[in-house]
Amino acid sequence: MSNPTKRIIIRNLIKSYRSGTQSVSVLKGIQLDVPDTFLTLMGPSGSGKSTFLNILSGIDKADSGEVWIGGKNLATFSEEELTNYRRNETGIIFQFFHLLPYLSALENVALPLYIAGIGKSKAREIAKNALEKVDLAHRFGHKPDELSGGEQQRVAIARALAKNPSIVLADEPTGNLDTYHAHKILELLLELQEKEKFSLFIVTHDREIGEKGKIRLKMKDGLILPQEDPALRV
Ligand code: ADP
Repeated sequence: MSNPTKRIIIRNLIKSYRSGTQSVSVLKGIQLDVPDTFLTLMGPSGSGKSTFLNILSGIDKADSGEVWIGGKNLATFSEEELTNYRRNETGIIFQFFHLLPYLSALENVALPLYIAGIGKSKAREIAKNALEKVDLAHRFGHKPDELSGGEQQRVAIARALAKNPSIVLADEPTGNLDTYHAHKILELLLELQEKEKFSLFIVTHDREIGEKGKIRLKMKDGLILPQEDPALRV
């Protein structure tokens, strides 16, 4: 029997959004049971990928179903437990970086640490360390508009990793970069994953990245398509 703390297990996950008087069904009963190593998720626009990622990252809650990560079911978490999960267990990376424009690279990485209650000098030390890991030691004081797109995404990766998360979730992390920088960012994420042993979940349109996943998932119309690889079955 495989270890359930090392798997992502989803049972009958359902999510709808209300739009005016209408309810739009977005996730329609997702079922999944896979090792939580390096997963990629591809699928057409509007198929529910970001909604699914937001539920895995504790940003959003499903209407019903089970979401087992690290042996715990997020669906049963209280608001406080979900906040702690988001703060301590997850690192999130977005397509448009979501850096604060008026803060330096260092302050952007340190800010979530301050919010998590870490003292100023300790937070800055952790932030420096994280920026060094993404090869930005020479850019501590730069503001986002003084950095290239690839560098901004590296700051966002440092921010995600500073908390030493057990899972890193990335929504189209290379969607705003040219092919060369997209390649570099993926290389960096995989290198860091190898060293730091977090699980990595990437939503992407980029076929090349999608095909690199150890587990390659496809979503269509609110459902994850059945796994073809027999090794994935439990
Ligand atoms: P994808 O990431 O695959 O493009 P999304 O998860 O972003 O898909 O969206 C799936 C569907 O849910 C889309 O039809 C989108 O319009 C709808 N949707 C997403 N977020 C909301 C929201 N906050 N309110 C209403 N509808 C939403």
